[in-house]
Amino acid sequence: MTHIFKKKFGQNFISDKNLLKAIVDDADIGNEDEVLEIGAGAGSLTTKISQRAKRVVSYEIDSDLQSTLTSLNLTNVKFVFGDIMKYSIEDIEKDFSGGYKIIANLPYYITSPLIFKFLNNSDKVQSLTIMVQKEVADRIVAKADGKDYGVLSVMVQFFGKAKITRQVSRKMFYPQPNVDSSVVNITLDRRYKEIDKESFYKFIQTCFSMRRKTLKNNLSQYQDYLDLIKILDGNVLSRRAESFSVEEFIEMYKKIK
Ligand code: SAH
Repeated sequence: MTHIFKKKFGQNFISDKNLLKAIVDDADIGNEDEVLEIGAGAGSLTTKISQRAKRVVSYEIDSDLQSTLTSLNLTNVKFVFGDIMKYSIEDIEKDFSGGYKIIANLPYYITSPLIFKFLNNSDKVQSLTIMVQKEVADRIVAKADGKDYGVLSVMVQFFGKAKITRQVSRKMFYPQPNVDSSVVNITLDRRYKEIDKESFYKFIQTCFSMRRKTLKNNLSQYQDYLDLIKILDGNVLSRRAESFSVEEFIEMYKKIK
């Protein structure tokens, strides 16, 4: 294969066989599983997943990779050539009979929008096992009171349980990126089903809108939260968003009329 690697698509391919296998292990893929892969590249991870899963649907934006991928002749894989961000969840999910798992060695620039796209809009995705920049992984799993804790941490942990399953050196990729990576597994349990996810997301964004400011400062920007401010204790209002656990945010949110 003579491929010209495209930086704008975040093309850093994995060739190490052990690492490919390890990612599929981390995603806990069995022969009943349907998998959505994002960013097929030259298909090395796709091939590993296809040996383990029932079916794989794999998206790839770079049409130059089309002939490489189709010539792999993977019988249980459907390739879709296009930008995953341009497809609606509804269209993506037409390819799956029920629940499905996501695996991706992601281009870094779409990490957060992609996570939010699936968390906020899909009721069928069961887990995401994704290779992300180490710093992003630290933010995803962060707990209250740390510098990494923010909207991404709260929202991911609102939907499920997140853990870093392995650290990956930049040396494992070709071409080599400028940063190290981590594999993160997010298993969704949707334990707060009764809560409207969109308005909770807005609430969390508001709480964190200015990190150095108090909760009261941030909430008082919006009419929607003025009643909440009236019923919250002064001690609570003088804290910063980063000091609240996910459970505390839920409790507060439930008080909004
Ligand atoms: N899975 C392969 C390739 C990872 S590199 C491996 O692990 O070796 C990331 C891949 O995602 C690239 O092939 C890139 O072209 C593709 N990609 C980037 N943005 C995309 C998007 N928006 N939709 C679909 N694929 C995308």
